[in-house]
Amino acid sequence: MICDVCKTEMNDATTEMEVSIKGKMIKVINVPSLICPQCKKLVVESLVEKVAQKCAKHCKDGILDYNDVKLLGFGFEKGKGQLS
Ligand SMILES: [Zn+2]
Repeated sequence: MICDVCKTEMNDATTEMEVSIKGKMIKVINVPSLICPQCKKLVVESLVEKVAQKCAKHCKDGILDYNDVKLLGFGFEKGKGQLS
């Protein structure tokens, strides 16, 4: 993926984000993302964000590890192995 700000090839990264479920903030860790080495712009794909929100609804302890999300079968189908 190319950075839409400075047109630099972006690198894979992981980040943390918070999602609000019924007014309660759930912290999501190890979220797959892309970071621009040039301008440090961080992008989380909307699909990744949707999955995180979906899974956060079932999260009871306020913190969700995205690595566990994949194990629960909410993983990706696109491109087989691309985001494994
Ligand atoms: Zn950039």
